[in-house]
Amino acid sequence: MTSVDVLVVGAGPAGSTAAERLARQGHSVLVIEEHGRIGYPVQCAGLVSRRVLDLSGAPQVVRRPVHGATVYSPALRSITFRAAEPRAYVIDRAGLDIALAEKAATAGAVFETNTRFDGLVGTPNGIARVKVTREGRDSEELEAKLVVGADGVSSAVARAFRLRRPVEILPAFEAEFPESPGDPDLVEVYLGTTIAPGLFGWWIPDGSGGARVGVAASADGTSARVYYERLLAQIARRYGRALCNPTSYLVSGIPIGELPRFSAPRVMLVGDAAAQPKPLSGGGIFTGMRAAELAAEVAHGALTDGDFSGARLSRYDAAWRREFGEEFDKAQYLRRLFLKFTDRELEAILEALEEAGTTETIVAFGDIDFPTHVVRRLLRQSPSLLRLLPKAVGALWGRDDHRAPDLDFASERVHQ
Ligand SMILES: Cc1cc2nc3c(=O)[nH]c(=O)nc-3n(C[C@H](O)[C@H](O)[C@H](O)COP(=O)(O)OP(=O)(O)OC[C@H]3O[C@@H](n4cnc5c(N)ncnc54)[C@H](O)[C@@H]3O)c2cc1C
Repeated sequence: MTSVDVLVVGAGPAGSTAAERLARQGHSVLVIEEHGRIGYPVQCAGLVSRRVLDLSGAPQVVRRPVHGATVYSPALRSITFRAAEPRAYVIDRAGLDIALAEKAATAGAVFETNTRFDGLVGTPNGIARVKVTREGRDSEELEAKLVVGADGVSSAVARAFRLRRPVEILPAFEAEFPESPGDPDLVEVYLGTTIAPGLFGWWIPDGSGGARVGVAASADGTSARVYYERLLAQIARRYGRALCNPTSYLVSGIPIGELPRFSAPRVMLVGDAAAQPKPLSGGGIFTGMRAAELAAEVAHGALTDGDFSGARLSRYDAAWRREFGEEFDKAQYLRRLFLKFTDRELEAILEALEEAGTTETIVAFGDIDFPTHVVRRLLRQSPSLLRLLPKAVGALWGRDDHRAPDLDFASERVHQ
């Protein structure tokens, strides 16, 4: 029976990052991936911060730098934030996954594609024995001292080890268009309860004249495709013409609301498997890769000491909380406020932002990985924005007992 130090399930950015960091420390690492080709099918819009390029060491995957965004209200009122320097990057997402897997393989990790994790058989002698199925073969068992679940939104590892599932999964639908008007230096964000209740629609230049257009919305019984069609109609109104001839579609889900625990004896979850995407945008590449790094540090210590207890592995949970806990708590709170807004209130918020001349603040302090940092500055700067919020806060407190986190951001940290 195959026996390894670490079994990583899933060869996405989180899995390959964890594999690379652990293989580099000399541990035997096997990565299994259920699909035949790493990186495919692509299930992502591929907009990332500089931090992802730094973490991956793969700047070659950049298709185009992006300098800011235009946000559209339901009535197509807009506000544009444009910086002189790049604020985000449109990447070749499959290329990123491949580059990360190559780095991990170079460090010594072994990859097996067309191989699916099917479940936990047991933990004889404290070793995790799991069931995997290689394409065209009967299922087999293999053993690992530690399992890293990096198997995405529907994580079979989380289920097998009885770790809780995300609070929400936002259905998402995206298409690629070979040609598209719009400013290639900016992304466009579309708000509105009929287009994307619970999140937003996006138009992202692809770096070769086309665009990735998609939507993620609350799971309210309406299919993401319906919201996508409404978004296309909105974009047609904005451009005065319809986008034509999509070349590919993707349908997936974005988990929101980190799990209460990412680890248990012999297992750690990273990335979408742990519902680590950012609550205000659904972006999960940076947070997933960083979580994988944090998990790998703790796993290295556990492997060195031979201690795979829940208490030992929960050091990873604590490290995550130290780095992202405050940001995610505030973001979840703001998201709950956002969910209360009517279209009319969204119009009023954009109007308030425009009136207060907040674009410079957003350009100066906006950070796609830590978006709540700019909120305190905006609230201070815009009294009319502040007037809009108490109503929502009241509505929130009226309905449930969520405590409002301190939005004064007194302990604001500096992230570079
Ligand atoms: C429409 C859409 C647009 C998005 N846009 C962005 C964006 O612009 N920027 C951003 O930062 N994030 C974005 N995200 C989120 C981002 O794609 C995810 O957060 C990110 O891919 C998570 O990485 P991961 O490694 O955790 O999981 P994944 O990338 O999902 O990788 C999981 C891997 O596990 C494999 N797997 C699953 N089950 C098994 C099994 N049982 N056995 C073996 N292998 C298995 C899968 O095949 C997959 O390769 C978007 C998501 C969606 C749905």
